[in-house]
Amino acid sequence: MTVSFFVTYSTIMTDLEPIRLAGVADRRPLVIAGPCSAETEAQTLDTARGLAAAGIRIFRAGLWKPRTKPGGFEGVGAAGIAWLQRVKRETGMYVTTEVATRSHVEAALAGGIDLLWIGARTTANPFAMQEIADALEGRDIPVLLKNPISPDLELWIGAVERLRNAGLRRLGVIHRGFTSIDRSRYRNHPMWAIPIELRRRFPALQIFCDPSHIGGRRELIAPLAQQAMDMGFDGLFVEVHCAPDQAWSDKTQQITPQVLVQLIENLTIRETTTTDCLDELRTQIDKLDDRLLELLAERMRVACEIGRCKKEHGMPVLQTRRYEELLARRTTQAVELGMDEEFMRSVLQAIHEESIRQQMGTIDEK
Ligand code: PEP
Ligand code: MN
Repeated sequence: MTVSFFVTYSTIMTDLEPIRLAGVADRRPLVIAGPCSAETEAQTLDTARGLAAAGIRIFRAGLWKPRTKPGGFEGVGAAGIAWLQRVKRETGMYVTTEVATRSHVEAALAGGIDLLWIGARTTANPFAMQEIADALEGRDIPVLLKNPISPDLELWIGAVERLRNAGLRRLGVIHRGFTSIDRSRYRNHPMWAIPIELRRRFPALQIFCDPSHIGGRRELIAPLAQQAMDMGFDGLFVEVHCAPDQAWSDKTQQITPQVLVQLIENLTIRETTTTDCLDELRTQIDKLDDRLLELLAERMRVACEIGRCKKEHGMPVLQTRRYEELLARRTTQAVELGMDEEFMRSVLQAIHEESIRQQMGTIDEK
């Protein structure tokens, strides 16, 4: 059932096209950069000039800022369109801004904005997405959709689908990380498996990484950008400000145009062609995965035995203390073996969840 559903889905989405802007080289990484917010005309122009001198061709700046709480800087609104038009005229860069409502779309289209992006809070809302799709009906403008704040791949795909239904084809996505209850060094947890699954299902969809909103801190931007390139992402969407420490929003994650230049120069771009040695290594991985799955199935069988034993002795399924001990011991061991602690914790959590599910099944057996 599920499989045929997704087959239908991918057939629908094979006609997507890259965002393609005349004169912008189709080379990885395609970089879109600019301030979190357009604050003043001078700050917008100053940042844009620095980026243009660095060879950046697409300039981002938020005019309408979706803030978590009221009272923060909520953007200059439509007044900033004239500043972006000046950026276009004076630097020759393409410009993009975030839209969240029909009136934003109308103002952006009337103002000659070249590319639109949709923010994480908006992608998460099907009503807002439909309103934007209706406002864009029949228009040929490239649009990039950020992932929704929650790790919900279907919601992300649904948002792309709404724009596609409105006739848009030049669509791409921006991976900006997900809100997570786990403590983490990131502002938004990258959960790379989600954009990777999106790529697997819809290879025609261009994927950008927003290392600024994932990292939340300047020092995390370069390593995240490298990771995105290693995973075959097409581009980077980076917050750049002429004076980051004075920024009116997201100041801890903005970098200067000069730092961006360094970051791009230091990236290693590996091309994704298959070679014989890769085939050999993939065969090894497949064999290891076979063993992993067999071991997991065996572990589940033992877990079910435990379930039966607990039932016989009238014990509860979930024994928190034992689970805590297991987590602590195995995460320490994982670190000793060169793996990430958080990675091991999520693997163990997933295994544990499935064990509990199977144990409950065993207990419910008459
Ligand atoms: C932004 O790009 O400035 C922004 C508001 O991002 P997000 O929607 O990812 O939070
Ligand atoms: Mn921002």
